[in-house]
Parts: sequence; C-alpha cells; structure tokens
Amino acid sequence: MIKQLFTIIFLTLLVGCQPASNKQKNILQTTEEKKNEFAIIIHGGAGTILKKNMSDEKEVEYKAKLTEAIKIGYTILKNGGTSQEAVMKTIQVMEESPLFNSGKGAVFTHEETNELDASFMDGKTLNAGAVAGVTNVKSPIELAIKVMTDSDHVMLSGKGASEFAKEKGLEIVDPSYFYTERRFKSLKRIKDKEKTELDHDDKTAVFYDSDIKNAKFGTVGCVALDKEGNIAAGTSTGGMTNKRWGRIGDSPIIGSGTYANNATCGVSSTGWGEYFIRNQVAYDISAQMEYKNSSLKEATKDVIQNKLTKLGGTGGVVALDKNGNMSFEFNTAGMYRASMDDKGELVVKIYKE
Ligand code: ASP
Repeated sequence: MIKQLFTIIFLTLLVGCQPASNKQKNILQTTEEKKNEFAIIIHGGAGTILKKNMSDEKEVEYKAKLTEAIKIGYTILKNGGTSQEAVMKTIQVMEESPLFNSGKGAVFTHEETNELDASFMDGKTLNAGAVAGVTNVKSPIELAIKVMTDSDHVMLSGKGASEFAKEKGLEIVDPSYFYTERRFKSLKRIKDKEKTELDHDDKTAVFYDSDIKNAKFGTVGCVALDKEGNIAAGTSTGGMTNKRWGRIGDSPIIGSGTYANNATCGVSSTGWGEYFIRNQVAYDISAQMEYKNSSLKEATKDVIQNKLTKLGGTGGVVALDKNGNMSFEFNTAGMYRASMDDKGELVVKIYKE
C-alpha cells in the first residue's frame, strides 16, 4: 500500500516536472482530438489566382465543380464506403472537367502533347501506386490505383503504363481527348515569348523559371478518412506547361505529391513540383506528426510556410489527420479547395482569406 502511494507521488512529481513546452504539447494534442468520424478534403490547384483576374461566372463554375466533386466522395463515405473509392471517384470528376490541369484540361508539353501523372496511397497498408507520362488513359488516378492493387510495382511510366492499362481493361482514349483550346493557347503564349525574348537556347530554362513563379497550378488532389479509420490520398495532374525532356513533377512521387498513413495523416500537394520533390513535402508533414508529435496544423504550416517558402517553392497542400482534423495550407495567392466534415458542412474557397 505504502509502496503504491510512493509510486503515485513519484509519478505525479515526474509529470509536474515536465518542461513547459511538453505540457503545452499535451494541451495542443487534446485540442486535436477526434473531430470527425469521416471527412474529405480536396484541391484543384494553387497559384497566382486573384479575384481581380477572375470573372464572376468562372468563379461560380469552379466552385460548382469543386462542390460536385467533393459531394461524390462525401456520399460514398457517409454510406460506409472506403476512402479509396471516395478519393478515386472525387478525383475522376475533376479529371473529366476542362477547368483543372488533370485528365481533360491537362496542360501541354513543349512538344504539344499531354503527359499525365498521378499517384495514390492507402494509409492502412502503406501500399501505393503511381503513373507518369501517360498519354492515352482516360483516368490516370484509376490507373495509379490499379498499379497498387494489380501489380508488384509502385510506379509505371509512359508506354508500359499504357500497356498495363489496356491489359487491365481501363478506358483508353485518343490523345486528342485531352486537348483544350485554353491550355493550347497557354503553351503558344509561352513559346512565343521564348522566341521573341530569348535568342540563346541556354536561356530557355531561366525564362521557364521566372514564368512559373507566377503560374497557376491546376493539379487536383483529394484526401479522405472513412468510417473504418482508413486514410487515402490521391493526386492527378498534367504537370507544368511547356515541360520537356520527359520532365516528371512531384504529383506521381509518393512522399512528395501524395502520402497517407493511418497513424498520422494523408496529404495531397500542388505547386512547383521540383521544390515539392526536394522537400519531400507530403512525407515531411506525416514525419513531423510522427517524430515531433506536431498537430496537423503545426506540421502543414511549418512545411509550407517555413521550409518550402525558404527554399523558394510555391504551392500548397490539403491534409487530413486520423482524427478527422483538416488543413488547407498554401503560400500562393489562392488555391481552389473544398472540405466536408461528417455533419455534411461544406467549405469551398478560392482566394487567401
Ligand atoms: N505539382 C505539379 C507539377 O509540378 C503541378 C501542379 O501542381 O499543378 O507537375
């Protein structure tokens, strides 16, 4: 009895002697307790998206499409469906819309083709699938999931990825399916500038660099938590306008463009891919939660506003933790984004607020 009493006194003293920062951390963690039984969060790209450059009609169009997409995923989750299905179906709505830089509406490469990248990760098993440089598969996110479920690999590229898609019975389209006049004009504008402003080949990269600082990234992504507590994340993109030499960005890279772990969180990124790869943005957010005990908000903020920004990268993430807390974090003027919690409360935003 006395021994037990001493043990209790000792343990009480030990907790009392914890440094203030640890105590604070405990308080922070409790405020991040179970928020939602299920939840879903999406983005349609970040960048120099300013109210003054956007017509009222376009704004309504973007918000309507984001709403349509997220409601598909929300209904799946509400009815007890998996986060995997919710992520795929939600992303497919955006892939089929010419508004976003993914699937139909993808940006053009320097060679005037569309090369699509996508990735998916399952937070329960830590399984993942990804595709890069695909030119004729209607839904790159579906293909990324197939790579995960039906192959021994994590990432397939180019022709091989298309062959795999055909074998698995996925919908194959003529590459012209991805053509949109708007994206083709963007490419032409950049190429014209290249021609008129630059006379040396070796300056091309410099031009490309300064131009993309002001770019609008239209990649799409989704993270969902289902009623079983499983987190899934996916991202789908056409990459960056005028990309060449088979350039691949962060979107199909697990740990950069996409990451999910039931023990921590799920993340989907959008922005200047090279910086997201160098910072391992999506994994870093999960790692900060795992190793530093950071909350989702603290982790996303540090990675985007501090680490990515310091390196010169622009863009943002949507993320969701195992307790259904959600975070939008970006260092650009805007990010097309939406979220829905388990009560069906919908948030749809475009600009910084
Ligand atoms: N992150 C993508 C890439 O670099 C672009 C985007 O987010 O729109 O390919």
